[in-house]
Amino acid sequence: MDSSEQVGRAVKQLAAQVYSGLHGSGLRVEPVVELACLMEEYGLSGSAVREILERRTAELGPADVVRLGRELLELMDFEPGFDLEPGWWATLETAAKVVEGDLRASGIEGALGITMPDWDDSGCARVEFRGACGSPPIWPSSGKDIGVALAEVADATQDEVMEVTWMVWPTCPEHRLGLHADLVEGTAVWQCAGGGTHVAARIGELGGSSRRRDVRPST
Ligand SMILES: [Zn+2]
Repeated sequence: MDSSEQVGRAVKQLAAQVYSGLHGSGLRVEPVVELACLMEEYGLSGSAVREILERRTAELGPADVVRLGRELLELMDFEPGFDLEPGWWATLETAAKVVEGDLRASGIEGALGITMPDWDDSGCARVEFRGACGSPPIWPSSGKDIGVALAEVADATQDEVMEVTWMVWPTCPEHRLGLHADLVEGTAVWQCAGGGTHVAARIGELGGSSRRRDVRPST
């Protein structure tokens, strides 16, 4: 590991500390100042970094610390992982249960879950279907919103099912085309491109209880 890698790792660790301070027990000034120093060293400068380095630590009140801590995280595009936001992982698992219901409704057997394979150190989640997990990575922040989580997990599941079974899944009963997962007005749906775009079913309502809902403009 060279020295810039070491600084990069220290920046990430401090950023995680600042994030949990902001979202939990409260943020102290020390990690914020330390993070600003390291960011400067790493070449990640910005107005928040300069403000922290120019002002005396004793001058920074609690409101300044919170504001500057947030600004530093924004400046470095900090993305919390599942270790800092375990609830996001739980949301992805819930989404996998819902999508598994769609698999069953189509008569497809096999366990569906969320995993982090050993070979992947990106911190992303993957869908695991019948033990295979080669579908595209799912970023932790997808677990912030159940609609986004459903659409992402459904999309990755479709990929994985295709890879494992060589089947196009799911398909539109009306047009026999492959559906694709999408978010329509905040709701996760299976969409079909046939006959003008239409929603075949909400994700989780494939088969039995699904109703065809047309989203074409009514001109
Ligand atoms: Zn269709």
